[in-house]
Amino acid sequence: QWEFEVHYQPKVKLGSENIVGFEALLRWRHPVRGLISPLQFIPLAEETGLIVPIGVRTLEEACRTVRSWQLEFPMRPPVEISVNLSARQFQDRELLEHVRRILAETGLQPESLQFEVTESVLVQDPAQALEIVRELRAIGVGLKIDDFGTGYSSLSYLHKLPFDTLKIDRSFVSTMVQDHAAFEIVRAIILLAGSLGLHVVAEGVEDLEDWSLLRQLGCDFAQGYFIARPMPGDAVTDWVRAWEPRRAQLVPA
Ligand code: C2E
Ligand code: CA
Ligand code: CA
Repeated sequence: QWEFEVHYQPKVKLGSENIVGFEALLRWRHPVRGLISPLQFIPLAEETGLIVPIGVRTLEEACRTVRSWQLEFPMRPPVEISVNLSARQFQDRELLEHVRRILAETGLQPESLQFEVTESVLVQDPAQALEIVRELRAIGVGLKIDDFGTGYSSLSYLHKLPFDTLKIDRSFVSTMVQDHAAFEIVRAIILLAGSLGLHVVAEGVEDLEDWSLLRQLGCDFAQGYFIARPMPGDAVTDWVRAWEPRRAQLVPA
């Protein structure tokens, strides 16, 4: 019945504090049980293979929605959308056809679309993963390693695979203020990304202290409850308008 909803969490550039994009996060609006977390249904959808059609439709909806925001809020560069891909989707060669078609149908530029994949996806079938990564890059979309630091962290992927962004896992970001080891890991990932010419996004930024620390460390982008929780698409326009006064307060003097 497609009881799913795509929610959107803003991603902000540290330093200018501008909104640069959104991550699409799926929810199931169950008629009786209410809003169900993807952690509860994505593993099952993976197991049954239903994640493949669900993922295509999520991608379609996210691209169409963000294209409408680009027209409503023209920015340079245009606001972008990140979509998560799980292992099963990543192994499906038809994914490439769907991506091409969806970009053509929605009018979204490939530079405005990024995929997030975890390291575990790359480990399962590295040869196949490499091929799909290359073809996605040939289309022109961006590729991020999600939850960086929690998987196999095989550093060889970083130079073998054409990823452009590392996303530091929330488990490090949300504890870095209290936990010295977590802080050093965050710092090391930011340095590593910088020296390899990769962008770096911190997820799970929950308060001003996290925010300021990441800015000092030279992290490029941040996402988290401090900025906004994921929200339904129709709430985004109002949120964007309300961000400007908050942004002005956050920008360093
Ligand atoms: P993820 O890709 O690591 O997504 C980040 C998760 O962290 C999201 O949980 C988000 O709501 C949550 N989050 C963001 N900021 C904060 C914060 O400041 N504090 C805390 N405590 N949490 C924060 P969510 O939406 O429940 O999604 C969970 C996972 O489900 C995602 O993890 C992703 O792996 C998967 N997922 C969600 N949507 C999709 C989808 O469309 N396709 C696929 N394949 N997987 C999806
Ligand atoms: Ca993600
Ligand atoms: Ca994560």
